[in-house]
Amino acid sequence: MSISFGFEHSYARALPGFYAKVAPSRVRAPTLLKLNHALCDELGLDARALQATHGAAIFSGCALPSDAEPIALAYAGHQFGHFVPQLGDGRAILLGEVRDRAGQRRDIQLKGAGQTPFSRRGDGRAALGPVLREYLISEAMHALGIPTTRALAAVATGEPVYRESVLPGAVFTRVAQSHIRVGTFQFFARHAEPADVKRLADYVLLRHDPALVSAEQPYLALLDAVMDRQIDLVARWLLVGFIHGVMNTDNMAISGETIDFGPCAFMDAYDPGTVFSSIDEGGRYAYANQAPIALWNLARLAETLLPLFDPDRSRAIALATEHLGQFETRFAARWLSGMRTKLGLTSEQPGDDALVQDLLDHMHRSAADFTCTFRRLAAVAGGADAEDLRCQFHDPARFSKWLQRWQARCAHEAGSPAERAQAMRAVNPAFIPRNHRVEHALEQAVRNGDLRAFERLAQVLSAPYADQPMHAEYAEPPPSSFGAYRTFCGT
Ligand code: AMP
Ligand code: MG
Repeated sequence: MSISFGFEHSYARALPGFYAKVAPSRVRAPTLLKLNHALCDELGLDARALQATHGAAIFSGCALPSDAEPIALAYAGHQFGHFVPQLGDGRAILLGEVRDRAGQRRDIQLKGAGQTPFSRRGDGRAALGPVLREYLISEAMHALGIPTTRALAAVATGEPVYRESVLPGAVFTRVAQSHIRVGTFQFFARHAEPADVKRLADYVLLRHDPALVSAEQPYLALLDAVMDRQIDLVARWLLVGFIHGVMNTDNMAISGETIDFGPCAFMDAYDPGTVFSSIDEGGRYAYANQAPIALWNLARLAETLLPLFDPDRSRAIALATEHLGQFETRFAARWLSGMRTKLGLTSEQPGDDALVQDLLDHMHRSAADFTCTFRRLAAVAGGADAEDLRCQFHDPARFSKWLQRWQARCAHEAGSPAERAQAMRAVNPAFIPRNHRVEHALEQAVRNGDLRAFERLAQVLSAPYADQPMHAEYAEPPPSSFGAYRTFCGT
């Protein structure tokens, strides 16, 4: 095929020996189900040509752009706290890197395009349901303004995949600022020379943090930068009720993008202990554990960098400890600033922390819907009747006391009520990927080959902060008949 993507291969050139060259496997009957035209434009790709002719072949791995050099990356990782020295791309194949319109380097990777030397016992394939799920949720995250890997395409393969049942197969095309994970560093630290860890760290600095190359202590600065990105990311997750579900070190990207959407889900009723993943029995990755787990993962990253911090090991450990020691305060500040914004507060007052915590306690006791509560609070800020909000709480009279406190606090703010309501709507989404809506869309697609529910949901989720009165039902929590929700890693 004569089509070219303008690929570069900086990772492959800089780090030979830490990946395997591997061609995607052909599939029987590729059909392009979804192409992200806006993202194509961002990446300088010709969406119309891809849609009309080459898309199915390219995004299934049946035909490659002429400048692709497909590779599977090596990485290790702690899975639920247990170290696995070799994981790697078992069913993902990196085609190359493009420069987007902003000059940012972006990886284009096929997921589910066949076995690689890292597949272990896996088939290298993906099923349609999880592919569409990642498409929906990663694009919803992007629309919410949360750093995330993106969805470029979904292709049906026309072949079955064998899980607990026989399912239609699909290939997902993922775009990321890079696919370098904490687990990538762990792989290098475990299997390579210290000089190779340094090569990886230097590559990451150049790719993600070029301004830090000339820092006095570039590797500590790198740790700080990765930490800051994780603090921002996890705070943003908490602020919209997102639960990643499998924060293993191989699923934490150095870029600070949300990656790996296997068992993730959004919380409906507020409960800090919420866990959706069926395999997370101990609740290691529960909603409220996500910040401490991010810190735990960062400590694993720091361990791989110790020789770069200082040749003296105890001195290096002291430096790492000192830097990671700032996580909790910085996270708390980032989270509180996000919560203030959600409450329409632009100034800082000493009692704000308690004001936020008391609201969350009310929500927890009443199992109030996380998203609806904040969105309705925005309406109340603008002068709407508070009844819609109050009725979410078991003890409306008691909640009214909190409401009065919040309104008194707002009275000290500069803007008008209308401005406050608008600012609050801009950070408190009306629409999140509700589990029952996602399940319905996937079921229609997988059982009946009907993508209309998927398309409609994707459309609604592309403008989560808009009111969209014609789609009001998508803002509603699930009916009680939906029951407790479980998610599965078996993607
Ligand atoms: P994940 O749960 O998606 O983070 O994957 C964990 C590890 O299992 C990674 O090394 C994946 O590449 C690998 N893996 C997951 N599913 C498959 C599959 N169907 N075939 C081969 N490898 C897989
Ligand atoms: Mg993963």
